Amino acid sequence: MTKTGVIFDIKRFAVHDGPGIRTTVFLKGCPLSCWWCHNPESQSAKPDILYRRHLCVRCGTCVETCPENARSLTENGVERDATCCTICGTCVDVCPSGATEKVGRELTARDLMEEIERDTPFYDQSGGGVTFSGGEPLTQPDFLRELLERCGDRDIHRAVDTCGFADPSTLRSIAEKTDLFLFDLKLMDPERHLEYTGVRNELILSNLTMLAGSGKTVHVRIPVIPTITDADENFDAIGRFVSRLPKPPHVRLLRHHPTAMEKYARFKMERRLPDGMDTPSRKELGRIASRLTEYGLEVSY
Ligand code: SF4
Ligand code: SF4
Ligand code: SF4
Repeated sequence: MTKTGVIFDIKRFAVHDGPGIRTTVFLKGCPLSCWWCHNPESQSAKPDILYRRHLCVRCGTCVETCPENARSLTENGVERDATCCTICGTCVDVCPSGATEKVGRELTARDLMEEIERDTPFYDQSGGGVTFSGGEPLTQPDFLRELLERCGDRDIHRAVDTCGFADPSTLRSIAEKTDLFLFDLKLMDPERHLEYTGVRNELILSNLTMLAGSGKTVHVRIPVIPTITDADENFDAIGRFVSRLPKPPHVRLLRHHPTAMEKYARFKMERRLPDGMDTPSRKELGRIASRLTEYGLEVSY
């Protein structure tokens, strides 16, 4: 029987998530809570209801039609009682202005494959394929495994974008069906990793060592977050660690984009990154890349 999972987005024609033209599927759920997360709506494993106050015309239709009486119109706009909301989506369907939106949808691996296969001609022409991202795709291992198997049956190239915080035996079983890992490395100091992501990094580092030793193709990706991950000592520690792996992976620097932080207000999530944090300049990325190449690594940004 086909497995059911929860995704929150599908990005078609992606060009930065592996070789060629790709379809990137974003699975919901993540064991980390990074301060700089560009997709905070991905962290919860379940679908959720999003409300954009500035789009709401206060018509009250969603309040009248909610089968659970979970919505009320207040002077601040619509409030939703999450304790009795069943995420049925009725309020989304009736909203005339797009102020209410459902984030995340449940679907089967079989149905998702139908969407993925629509882009097969682009994969064939460009040497592309599918990238499973998130959130953390390994939080839905059975769903992910079936998708990888189905892609393998159709000769579609498979990449998995992971934070590496996963049970090692689960990761090994997923690796058997994966062609490329995009593996995020954030902070080498375990205490700072705990402070800024919510978990320590020992498991992540041992999983990366295991994958690199297994002969799998791995690309390491480092988010460059000003004042958090961008210290020289962090890059030196990453350079030392990655260069000693059995088959040193390619390293890609990822730029922080402060505009993504606007989502925190929309999702009523606590935003911990301070205001006014700039995107790292290309000059700064070049400087970091040069530092990492001194460890014999191949670096792009
Ligand atoms: S998702 Fe359903 S239950 Fe929840 S607020 Fe909307 S209409 Fe009500
Ligand atoms: S239906 Fe939409 S526009 Fe009307 S009150 Fe509800 S959220 Fe606002
Ligand atoms: S690992 Fe990725 S998805 Fe998870 S919280 Fe961190 S940045 Fe967000």
